[in-house]
Amino acid sequence: MARILAITNQKGGVGKTTTAVNLAASLASLGKKVLLVDLDPQGNATTGSGAEKQGLAKTVYHLLLGTDGYEAVRLRSESGGFDLLPANRDLAGAEVELVEQKQREYRLKQALDKASDAYDFILIDCPPALNLLTVNALTCAHSVLIPMQCEYFAIEGLADLVNTIKKIKARLNPGLVIDGVVRVMFDNRNTLAQHVSDQLKAHFGAKVFDTVVPRNVRLAEAPSHGLAVLQYDRVSKGAQAYLQMARELIAKRDAEIGKEGVRRG
Ligand code: ATP
Ligand code: MG
Repeated sequence: MARILAITNQKGGVGKTTTAVNLAASLASLGKKVLLVDLDPQGNATTGSGAEKQGLAKTVYHLLLGTDGYEAVRLRSESGGFDLLPANRDLAGAEVELVEQKQREYRLKQALDKASDAYDFILIDCPPALNLLTVNALTCAHSVLIPMQCEYFAIEGLADLVNTIKKIKARLNPGLVIDGVVRVMFDNRNTLAQHVSDQLKAHFGAKVFDTVVPRNVRLAEAPSHGLAVLQYDRVSKGAQAYLQMARELIAKRDAEIGKEGVRRG
């Protein structure tokens, strides 16, 4: 069964999509079967995976409204080696249309139910808001992956996110956990970044990934070519960091499965 991760942070421009696309490609290069779900009307994960977002016949919008199943919406990112459920600005309409509907928080969960057996990891790229789309992601996911820049306001925003996660856990998804906090766009010459990083570790302990993603221009360039950084510049610091993060995620996951096995046995 797939591990479903919601990559989320309501703050804009913190590296969610960069993490989603590059983690998907890195996990795929390590032999994992990966589905990337673009749950943002901006469609950045779609473009960044090499798909053309305009003129798509089927998108996540159709999936959420229940007119199509995931197989009809699915595309293949040939360069990235993973499957993609694409989105474009149509998705903004889904939020409005869903408000009237029953079980509106469970739409993504229902739609991905059948996909779970076909993948090792399902990654959901969330929009920069704690809205109904993000609630769908958090209701569907086993866990949350939070990319964050180590700056002062980021810590403040994190408290809101952790509260939202607690509410979703209580109301909609009791099994939801935080799998990790990932430090991205990191500049270790910056003393504030070091300080915030220490605070994060004090608060989240082992949930903070050891892997740190540095600020690296290759990561910013790759999406304009519709490529993950691994295909754009394999030896760059950015590519190596996301590969290392993928290894760390796989190791965490294997350790979890081991524990579950012991509990059952
Ligand atoms: P939004 O909230 O709008 O969805 P986001 O959280 O998905 O944004 P990204 O789009 O991944 O953030 O990143 C924001 C910008 O920063 C992009 O231009 C991206 O290319 C750039 N970027 C992300 N990570 C890095 C990095 N490690 N080094 C350099 N640039 C980066
Ligand atoms: Mg994004």
